[in-house]
Amino acid sequence: MRRPYLAGNWKMNLDRRAARELAGALGEYLEANPASKDIDVGVFPASVYLDEIVRTMGGSRLIVGAQNCCDEEAGAYTGEVSVAMLRDVGASSVILGHSERRHLYGEADELIGRKVSLALLGGLDVILCVGETQEEREGGATEGVVATQLRGGLEAVSASDMDRITIAYEPVWAIGTGLTASPDQAQAVHAYLRGLLSSLYTDEVADSVRIQYGGSVKPSNAVELLSMADIDGALVGGAALTPENFIPILEAGLAAAV
Ligand code: PEP
Repeated sequence: MRRPYLAGNWKMNLDRRAARELAGALGEYLEANPASKDIDVGVFPASVYLDEIVRTMGGSRLIVGAQNCCDEEAGAYTGEVSVAMLRDVGASSVILGHSERRHLYGEADELIGRKVSLALLGGLDVILCVGETQEEREGGATEGVVATQLRGGLEAVSASDMDRITIAYEPVWAIGTGLTASPDQAQAVHAYLRGLLSSLYTDEVADSVRIQYGGSVKPSNAVELLSMADIDGALVGGAALTPENFIPILEAGLAAAV
């Protein structure tokens, strides 16, 4: 049984105070609900607030991670943040290959693969995002697109490091749009990705890697999505910005854990 992993990608939202309040509310929820030990919960604040959120949450089970990292170790890379810096402020994980990085900032599979390797080497766990656009889905290219993205992102990742990788299937047409893949549509791609992991690694690796779904997950659809056999959690954007929306999604994860 894979442990559900619910993660909130805060993107470029929330100021210092709002970020602290949200992290505090999630920490309190985890503390007050012993059953929540059966799920993993992560938050991915803007990098400028990581230090403070890590210190605020010290001792809590909340995973605190970054939304991106540089593909170089150090040096003249204006505006970038290195893996070592993220580790230095206490981040334990990083989201890579998010569709906003791919489509708005032109990140390609090769660059993402380099970031994944460097992140693992530097001690960060990774959520690797893959997903097709509406046009690609309509053209019947979904499997080809996610396969290329998965292979590219995992290019240099050995089987022994796969326990530090989570895959997030995020159809681009469902991110921030209010459109959600139906549970069956999502399950079909998750099962395909798991099969691919089995051919790239082993059945054992494929069985143990968690594959989150992301794309307009909200309290009203989380239970259905998380009850699917190959959906092991969620990467949540908009609905992760308030405890009122995110905590019911955590509860859906808890229901899926039993
Ligand atoms: C995301 O950005 O990873 C995401 C899934 O966003 P939303 O939940 O808002 O669609």
